[in-house]
Amino acid sequence: MDVYGLIGNPVGHSLSPPMHEAAYGVLDIDARYVTFEPTREALEAALEGAGALGISGLNVTIPFKEDVRELVEADSLAERIGAVNTIDFDGEPTGYNTDAAGVVRAFEHHGVALSGTAVVVGAGGAGRATAFALADEGVDVRIANRTVERAEALAADVPQASAHGLDELGELLAGAEILVNATSVGMESDETPVPALTLHDELAVLDAVYRPIETRLLREAAAAGATTVDGAWMLLFQGVEAFEIWTDRSAPVDAMNEALRTAL
Ligand code: NAP
Repeated sequence: MDVYGLIGNPVGHSLSPPMHEAAYGVLDIDARYVTFEPTREALEAALEGAGALGISGLNVTIPFKEDVRELVEADSLAERIGAVNTIDFDGEPTGYNTDAAGVVRAFEHHGVALSGTAVVVGAGGAGRATAFALADEGVDVRIANRTVERAEALAADVPQASAHGLDELGELLAGAEILVNATSVGMESDETPVPALTLHDELAVLDAVYRPIETRLLREAAAAGATTVDGAWMLLFQGVEAFEIWTDRSAPVDAMNEALRTAL
């Protein structure tokens, strides 16, 4: 039996176990997906132990994505983002960042063309992954963040990117085709970081927040006639990408999506 899992702290409400185990069931793979909550002090030993025990792959979540980047060899995208959310233990352990693919594949699944200009709101972990993912697709990225210095630091690393404050959102969105909320605003609340009046029907809007599934931003974007993509799609496709890295097989996307949405 192959063992996969998730390390983070806390990991109690993770949706990854049902999502991955649904894939094992559909493809008749003899595997389990389990969660681990090491302390930060024990993280390095935990990774060495995982390799020694023959664990096949691990996802990594808050607060360890940046620490793990220092502890395993990362591919160039994870290196540039500065965070690892997937480790493949086949051979030398290698770190990947599948949050980036999660953004791209979520948009592609909804038929959204990745071109033109994107406004990424947020410059934390999700904002970094989103900005690099879209820039690598050739999209011009405008990063707007509450703390402008953080947006500036990210824009300096991302090709074709610029940094802005949240007060510039109206002007930025008027010339944009894509909007991603990569802040935690709206998580288990009815708040939005983007004023409703700045939304329009030429936009495709992805909210990284997935609790609730229909955030205020997505509700107001739909009312403005925009295409909306909820955060569960990003979560799904980061998992799909990890599954495909680990198994070299095409993931059963529909089954994983159904399991994820049932667990939400
Ligand atoms: P993070 O690194 O802590 O970054 C948080 C971001 O939110 C920063 O840009 C921060 O701005 C901004 N922010 C927080 N409170 C704010 C407020 N009141 N007003 C304006 N901006 C505010 O967190 P993260 O890891 O990037 O996660 C962000 C969100 O994305 C979370 O809700 C997380 O669950 C979600 N996420 C979803 C997926 C998915 O697969 N769907 C994947 C990863 C993350 P400052 O820099 O000014 O503090």
